[in-house]
Amino acid sequence: MSSKIKVALKVGIIQVNPQIGEVEKTVARVWNALEELEKKLNYDESLYPDLLVFPEFSLIGYHFESKEQIRPYAATGDMKNGPSYELAAKISKKFNCYTVIGMPEIYIDHNDNDREIFYNSSLMVNKEGEILYRYRKSFLYTQDYKWGCEENPEGYQNFDLEFKGKGTNLTTGEKNIDVTLKTGLGLCMDMSPYKFKSPFHDYEYSTWHLDHGTELMIFSMCWLHSSAFSEMSEQTAEEVIEDIEENLKLRNLPPIGSQGDFTFNLDNDDDIERIANPNTTKISYTNLKEPDMQNINYWILRFSPFVSMNIRQEVFDSGLVESQLNKPSQIRRSSYIGCTIEKPWGFEDKQAILLLANRCGIEQKCKVFAGSSNIMKFNGKYQETAYGMDSTNESVELLGGLTLGYEGILLRDVNITVNR
Ligand code: GLN
Repeated sequence: MSSKIKVALKVGIIQVNPQIGEVEKTVARVWNALEELEKKLNYDESLYPDLLVFPEFSLIGYHFESKEQIRPYAATGDMKNGPSYELAAKISKKFNCYTVIGMPEIYIDHNDNDREIFYNSSLMVNKEGEILYRYRKSFLYTQDYKWGCEENPEGYQNFDLEFKGKGTNLTTGEKNIDVTLKTGLGLCMDMSPYKFKSPFHDYEYSTWHLDHGTELMIFSMCWLHSSAFSEMSEQTAEEVIEDIEENLKLRNLPPIGSQGDFTFNLDNDDDIERIANPNTTKISYTNLKEPDMQNINYWILRFSPFVSMNIRQEVFDSGLVESQLNKPSQIRRSSYIGCTIEKPWGFEDKQAILLLANRCGIEQKCKVFAGSSNIMKFNGKYQETAYGMDSTNESVELLGGLTLGYEGILLRDVNITVNR
């Protein structure tokens, strides 16, 4: 007989603004912020996080242009080298927690004439400072190709992550039991349509993780804000720079944005206000002290398979699922927007946690990052009235978030009930 286990975790996200060539300064700010965090928690270790998540390329900056430029920051071999692993190992030992951190990796392929393969990777380090898991970015962003990054040949993956003593068996009442959660790491573009070209409704990342029963999804990101200059911008880089400079000047901030002025969001009751998407595609870089709802809504949209939707029964009855599953896709899949062959919503009555650790700040005066790191829970409850695939959808619990423009630490108690 299966029983319901409630897992109670403390999870933290650290949002930073790393600039290229300034690793030491970034590491110093991280330590200052963590010391401040300890103080705010009155050095009470029972309040320390079980898991702390950093953004993609957390310490080194993002817009690298060549292999030679990125090489000094890459982890190699067993990956227990480089500034990012070193910091993660120290933090994990000090706080007795898992740490997830992103960094470049150079892998030597001995089966292919010792060819160097560059990856955009993230590591999960345990409290002994050992590497528990390494994940490589599967779907790459335009910028990743510039330094010769290659795709993860294994694609999306998940693994069992153990949380000792964190479970309560709701069937028998037994407390402090060890639980493992099916956990998946992700890196930024992993949640976007493959090369921005595959059908939007394939939702490759969330479909794969729904199909594979992932309960804890941990994203490290360098996600850009809609005010950023990109290949898709309607404005020229000069026009974008002018707008951003003006907004920064008004706030007395330098062209790289804010550093060192950490926001601490440690209050469980401070959740994100549910706001539907504004009717505009470009939001200027002004509301720096709030989470950016345009981004949060978009991220929720990309997790549609986990979100309640009241047209699924219709989709299910129409036979569309089968025909969709027969179409080619970037991934092998057994659900379509959450509908399976067996039932309208494969995720109904299940739960999953999503941690989104994004960076903030600006590179090259016009590459603006969206910050707004946040924690959400998909509660698997069917909502009759759920139309919006955004923050107004009550099957998504918004547990808290950081700001658009400032560095910060977010800490939350997160509960998830799983069947075992
Ligand atoms: N889709 C993401 C964006 O537009 C990808 C960025 C990334 O992979 N770092 O910001």
